[in-house]
Parts: sequence; C-alpha cells; structure tokens
Amino acid sequence: AMACRAVGLTRTYGTGSTAVRALDGVSVDFPRGTFTAVMGPSGSGKSTLLHCLAGLDTPDAGRVLLGDTDLTGLSDRQLTEVRRDRIGFVFQSFNLLPTLTAEQNILLPLDLAGRRRDDAEFDAIVAELGLGDRLGHRPAELSGGQQQRVAVARALIGRPALIVADEPTGALDTRTGQTLLAFLRSAVRESGRTVVMVTHDPVAASFADRVVLLTDGRVSGTLDDPTPDAVL
Ligand code: ADP
Ligand code: ADP
Repeated sequence: AMACRAVGLTRTYGTGSTAVRALDGVSVDFPRGTFTAVMGPSGSGKSTLLHCLAGLDTPDAGRVLLGDTDLTGLSDRQLTEVRRDRIGFVFQSFNLLPTLTAEQNILLPLDLAGRRRDDAEFDAIVAELGLGDRLGHRPAELSGGQQQRVAVARALIGRPALIVADEPTGALDTRTGQTLLAFLRSAVRESGRTVVMVTHDPVAASFADRVVLLTDGRVSGTLDDPTPDAVL
C-alpha cells in the first residue's frame, strides 16, 4: 500500500471564452491507511479530482503521485497497468458490463490482469456486501443498490492500494450504506490502503478520517475526525 498525493493540480475543460477551470491548483495528501471524503457544491471539481487521482483524466498542470510513481509522467500503456494493478474505481454510474453476471463483473479486474482469484477474499467481499444470492444475475436483473454494491466489490477485489469512489452510497438505503462505509473504513485500517470518496451525505462523510472541501476548483478547507454535525 502507498500514499497518494495531488500536487498543484489544474484541469481546464474547453478553450477560449468557454473554458472552465474545474481544478485550480489543488494540492492534497492522502496518506496511506486513511479514508478521505471529498465534499463541495455541484461543479466544484470533485469528480475531476477523483478522475485525475485514478489516472482516468490528465491534469494540464501538477502531479499525481501514487507511492513513488508520478501518474502524469506515464505513457497510456503504463497508466493502464497502474490503474489495473493498483487502483480500484467506483463510478457514480456503476459502469457494469451488461452481458456479464455480477460475479464476472466483480472478477473483471483480476481477469484483465491475468490474476487468480483469492477465494477467501472474494467470499469475504461478497458476504460483507450481501451479494451472495445475486452472483449469477446480470446488471439489468439487479436493483440500483445491488448494482452499486457490485461496483464496490469490483473496486475492492485484488486489494488495490488506492480505492477511489464517486458517491458509493448514493443508491443505497441508509442501513446498507452504513454497512458499506464501515466495511470500507475497516479495509483501510487493516490493510493500510487509501480510500478517497466523494459524497454529499454528511453521515457518509463522518465515516471518513478527514473531509476535504472543494469550492470552485480549490481546496477551501479540511476537517479532521468529522462528525455529521460538523460537516453540516
Ligand atoms: P463536481 O463533481 O464537484 O460536480 P466536476 O468535476 O464534475 O464537479 O465539474 C467541475 C467543472 O468542470 C464544472 O463546471 C463542470 O461543468 C466542468 N466539467 C466537468 N467535466 C467536463 C467536461 N467533460 N467537459 C466540459 N466541462 C466539464
Ligand atoms: P436495494 O435496497 O438493494 O436497492 P431494492 O429494495 O431496490 O434493493 O430491491 C429489492 C429487490 O427487488 C431486489 O432484491 C431486486 O432483486 C429486485 N429489484 C429491484 N429493482 C429491480 C430491477 N430493476 N430489476 C429486477 N429486479 C429488481
């Protein structure tokens, strides 16, 4: 496991008079073994930050360090390898493959990497996320909450060093969401992994070790040991 750092990240979409600066010099450390929630108004740059951290988007300026590796200096091919082997990503829209079963979707990162599954790890994730009786179903046969849990399981499988999650509890009821967050938090503490999660929910954020607040593409505050009241 390894720390992740954003250093002076700038990301501009478009050019000229219609350009939008989604990130404007964002520097944040995400130490190994910490769970960080990123909050902020709609359009403040949260998704762009997650995409840059996960190597899915390239900043115009600044660096993203995962351990000793600067993601912004890698070729596309190297970046694909780093994403595959070291980063788990939970997309807001889940991005499950419709023709694959839940089990096949969960195991996809291992298949792409040519890695064998660890049965104990797979069984623990499936049990913790309550997916045991849905493994043979395709995404269209699953509820939104179940699809979201499959997406989270896929991000956790193979013990990636960095887990990046965009609203991972948005489709879940309160109790299921809290079970998931407690699981993420324990995964972080036990294995020294690093989790960065975007959320709008103060209760979800209170499961994190720290909240980073974004406003207009800049870090406008941080809060350690957040409580729901403090986040509000
Ligand atoms: P958040 O996740 O906080 O809602 P985003 O990172 O999605 O914020 O967006 C930050 C800003 O960048 C917004 O003004 C948004 O409209 C703009 N933006 C995001 N993605 C794109 C894109 N692909 N093309 C153009 N503008 C974008
Ligand atoms: P969750 O809390 O996980 O989102 P729901 O309460 O939405 O679950 O769904 C309850 C049950 O209804 C689920 O076990 C699921 O099998 C079924 N279900 C929900 N939505 C769909 C759907 N779009 N297609 C098929 N089955 C569904």
